[in-house]
Amino acid sequence: MKIATMFSDVVGSFWKKPATVQYPFERVEAPTRLRGKLEWDPEKCTGCSLCSKDCPADAIEIITIDKKAKRFVMQYHMDRCTYCAQCIESCRFSCIEMSDEQWELAATSKVPFEVSYGREEDLAEALAKFALADTVETE
Ligand code: SF4
Ligand code: SF4
Repeated sequence: MKIATMFSDVVGSFWKKPATVQYPFERVEAPTRLRGKLEWDPEKCTGCSLCSKDCPADAIEIITIDKKAKRFVMQYHMDRCTYCAQCIESCRFSCIEMSDEQWELAATSKVPFEVSYGREEDLAEALAKFALADTVETE
């Protein structure tokens, strides 16, 4: 690149709007198809465990509380998740989605990365029976 061209680019850039923002003080809206943290709907779940079997990162466990009554709890190991969306493809009942709001997931400890999803009563029973994650999210 010629010096003159480079100089005109540098001078011209002073009057252009910056392409970047001052994150975290300024934020742009995340795209709606962003692959953020998993969200799970226990009401639609049949407990087939396809999501868990197909997950290449071993990031999902489905715990059965009562199969007949369709009571399940999902344990999500977020620190293992590669956000590939295979679980969403595999679930035939559209129980799993990826949040476009929860994507700033950095933390200084592993605790927030172990998440248990489910109905309040199912989580309480699962917590009593199994060593579940501390971070629980009810529907
Ligand atoms: S997004 Fe991929 S890695 Fe994450 S839980 Fe689903 S299948 Fe596993
Ligand atoms: S694939 Fe869907 S229905 Fe089957 S256990 Fe996973 S979330 Fe439930």
